[in-house]
Amino acid sequence: MARRPEHAHADAPEDASSGYALALHGGAGTLRRDSIDVAQAARFHGGLRRALAAGRAILGEGGRALDAVTAAVVALEDDPLFNAGHGAVYTSAGTHEMDAAVMDGRDCRAGAIAGICGPRNPILAARAVMEHSPHILLAGEGALVFCRSQHLVMVDAEYFHTSTRWQALQETLARQASGLAEDDEARRHGTVGAVARDRNGDVAAATSTGGTTGKLPGRIGDSPLIGAGTYADNSSCAVSATGHGEFFIRFAVAHEIAARVRLCGEPLASAARGVVEDLGHLGGSGGVVAVGRDGSLALPFNCTGMYRGYVKSDGIPYTAIYDEAYQTA
Ligand code: ASP
Repeated sequence: MARRPEHAHADAPEDASSGYALALHGGAGTLRRDSIDVAQAARFHGGLRRALAAGRAILGEGGRALDAVTAAVVALEDDPLFNAGHGAVYTSAGTHEMDAAVMDGRDCRAGAIAGICGPRNPILAARAVMEHSPHILLAGEGALVFCRSQHLVMVDAEYFHTSTRWQALQETLARQASGLAEDDEARRHGTVGAVARDRNGDVAAATSTGGTTGKLPGRIGDSPLIGAGTYADNSSCAVSATGHGEFFIRFAVAHEIAARVRLCGEPLASAARGVVEDLGHLGGSGGVVAVGRDGSLALPFNCTGMYRGYVKSDGIPYTAIYDEAYQTA
């Protein structure tokens, strides 16, 4: 298995005329290093690689960044290992409430849904809001009516049941009842997201999540909020975030990174790392994946790990979980 150092390759710009780049995350709430075995780690790497392959199939053929990030997030939503779609976590009431957003850097169009359970792939619902409604963010019953009108595949709540998420909720509720703070990032959160730059030099971002385990019903995180957990603008970069959503909302993390690139001319890697580090000092754990118009990538995080991966024009997928060298298949 080949390995690459953490930053050297991802940070390099792509060929400005024709290269593509795709980065994704499967959440910053990783299992603790000492509790993950080789087989489990391999399953996570496999899930990340399948999502990279879905996006690469589009970008390699000259397809759009918007389609690539959508396809990559659909693949992650369909994989019960990740906290989005099929593997979404439970609210404190034992229900599922999902958030998702997509943004096109060409014209800063965006679409999002919040707090809903129904569409099999919430990211497709967000995309439908962007493309087939005059709005940006739909929530609640009205959002479900809209999804049905768009003929999105709808599933019963049972589809989103996984025993690992149910068990995580029981542990979280038990800790809450005894007044103990959550001490396990994997139980606490997760999210999936992707950013891409296509061969035309356009960027896009997509993010989807079940939110945080044991959240109050009605709570909405950063993922569907444009500028907090999701942002894309051809004049700067595309960003998808994962982590403690309340902090990402307060500090408008995704837009903050884009603003530092656009207004200060800061290199993407430095802007993304700087914002994520500052957030950590304020108590907000998590990370982002980001891509610049030149195809340079940044995948910083300030916690134990972040399921993540990237692929560039050479087509080779790289994946990692902790602060370690990237693996290739
Ligand atoms: N940011 C997500 C939320 O707060 C959760 C996560 O990414 O871990 O809903």
